[in-house]
Amino acid sequence: MNKKQLGQYKEILLDKRMELQTVLKKKSEMEKSGTSDESMDTVDQANSNYRTDFNLKRREMVIQQVKEIDEALERINSGEFGDCDNCGEQIPKGRLEVRPNARFCTLCKDEMEKRGAV
Ligand SMILES: [Zn+2]
Repeated sequence: MNKKQLGQYKEILLDKRMELQTVLKKKSEMEKSGTSDESMDTVDQANSNYRTDFNLKRREMVIQQVKEIDEALERINSGEFGDCDNCGEQIPKGRLEVRPNARFCTLCKDEMEKRGAV
């Protein structure tokens, strides 16, 4: 992969990272301005617990994605970007365009999903 292509992926990754961080920031602002649980009846409280739980999971997912993007950016810097972590083959361009933080080629990813490792 040439420098120009790497630069393009880097931009995609940085854009995506910024997007995710905006989501995280918005979420914490929403949580701060959240209503108190005291005025709710039991049903509302159950819903609220469910929502909090859901938000936590979403948040974890977003944080995980930011982590993956950071790792991809590191691989761009070290020149390993675009190589499958498992077999060392180049990850197809089409796949990287959809998911620039992908670490495995399509074959390895399928294989891992079949084994239930991902
Ligand atoms: Zn592979």
